[in-house]
Amino acid sequence: PCTEFDKAYFHSYAHVGIHEEMIKDRVRTETYRNAIMQHRSSIEGKVVVDVGCGTGILSIFCAQAGAKRVYAVDASDIAVQANEVVKANNLSDRIIVLHGRVEDVEIDEEVDVIVSEWMGYMLLYESMLGSVITARNRWLKHGGLILPSYATLYMAPVTHPDRYSESIDFWRNVYGIDMSAMMPLAKQCAFEEPSVETITGENILTWPHVVKHVDCYTVEIDELESISTRFNFKSMMRAPLHGFAFWFDVDFSNFATSSTNNHSSSSITGPSNDPLTDGSQRKKRSNPNDALVLSTAPEDPPTHWQQTLIYFYDPIPVEQDQVIEGSVTLSQSRENRRFMNIHLEYSSGGRSFIKESVMR
Ligand code: SAH
Repeated sequence: PCTEFDKAYFHSYAHVGIHEEMIKDRVRTETYRNAIMQHRSSIEGKVVVDVGCGTGILSIFCAQAGAKRVYAVDASDIAVQANEVVKANNLSDRIIVLHGRVEDVEIDEEVDVIVSEWMGYMLLYESMLGSVITARNRWLKHGGLILPSYATLYMAPVTHPDRYSESIDFWRNVYGIDMSAMMPLAKQCAFEEPSVETITGENILTWPHVVKHVDCYTVEIDELESISTRFNFKSMMRAPLHGFAFWFDVDFSNFATSSTNNHSSSSITGPSNDPLTDGSQRKKRSNPNDALVLSTAPEDPPTHWQQTLIYFYDPIPVEQDQVIEGSVTLSQSRENRRFMNIHLEYSSGGRSFIKESVMR
């Protein structure tokens, strides 16, 4: 059923600003375009559904890649503009805009390809992946293609002394006045909720842990209600530990499924079959399945997703090689399944902590 929360959610996508931000994110939009063009052989002459088409940009890329027909579905009123954009580009004969939820609209044929840009902050915020799964289960042909095919959510411990001092230590001395009595409130206001911000590789204390790997061909909706994982990090340096960062990547290559899905497996030229002399050259020219990844990692070019940080109220000093271990559970909130509850348990240096937060 479409709840009041869903209505508010779709309403937020009726504004131009959110689409402008996504389209201006060149890392995002160009990776999608490259992926669509690299999969041209699976798209040419085929039927595509664009789950959550927004302004219609991905549907138009698919039409440019030669799709016979694209169903561009969006429940937000932005679908009205998508339809105008399609008309103005003389694509009305190939792109059919459907203004409704993928859960509700009718498409009277099976589709060869699903394309969707469904990723939220921390990958799963917004809970839109469930709608991609619904579209897959309703319409995708056996052996069809899903773009992107895989998604991975990562976490790593972070140090961020500047962020801590500008919000907290700041109160120690304000115009010569000791205002450290403000510090408990400052910590609560700054660090109670997850914070979307850009950090760099220098803030990361060690290699990331995979919180969840999603195979879009096989994942089911009930798997996403609650995700738990245990982590065990060993800090690569001595630093104050301020919290954890989360980020994700999505992969448009269909390598791993090429044996179980029959799409384009014939075009794979395994590196091991290549003569040593020109192996890499040939791989570049003849293999359309080269890894194509949209990454939101701190060490990669920034995107509008940035990274999501969960800060502790107080830093923990850690030595090189000190273990930081615990568990995290991400679950859809009961009040609104588009919100995410984050339950974090962590310990280091003999002290244990629990932190609950909600991403609204
Ligand atoms: N594909 C566009 C927009 C991505 S934003 C682009 O890449 O620029 C995600 C869009 O999906 C939003 O416009 C939102 O309204 C739509 N959406 C989310 N869940 C949906 C659902 N269940 N049915 C239809 N549209 C949905």
